[in-house]
Amino acid sequence: MSTPDPDCLFCKIVAGDIPAEIVAETEHTVAFRDINAQAPTHVLVIPRVHEPDVASLAAAAPEAAAALLVETRRIAQLEGHEAYRLVFNTGAEAGQSVFHTHGHVLAGRDLTWPPG
Ligand code: C5P
Repeated sequence: MSTPDPDCLFCKIVAGDIPAEIVAETEHTVAFRDINAQAPTHVLVIPRVHEPDVASLAAAAPEAAAALLVETRRIAQLEGHEAYRLVFNTGAEAGQSVFHTHGHVLAGRDLTWPPG
């Protein structure tokens, strides 16, 4: 469902009902600093619409999904980085803890592979 979920933390950030350190906003997206940063730049880019993961977003709202992907690069560049890692944890077993699509934009340190 793309309608806001009253129990969703990130829907509340989109609505301005709980605080976040906002980096940028667009028609389709909100970007804010992760409260538990894993790199010098760690920004979450989320769609305004509520979809649980990026594949669901792409199926339900492809324009928003494309805008989110474009926005990740703009955010990295705003933060001074050409290279960055974009992570979408998808599913609890893969580390997803908030079920509103979010891309982690990570940059500013050596990012090793494979990820943990
Ligand atoms: O991929 P995952 O679902 O685990 O990512 C959720 C992220 O949301 C975490 O990195 C967590 O630190 C971040 N978070 C946040 N602000 C909140 C709650 C969670 O930045 N209020």
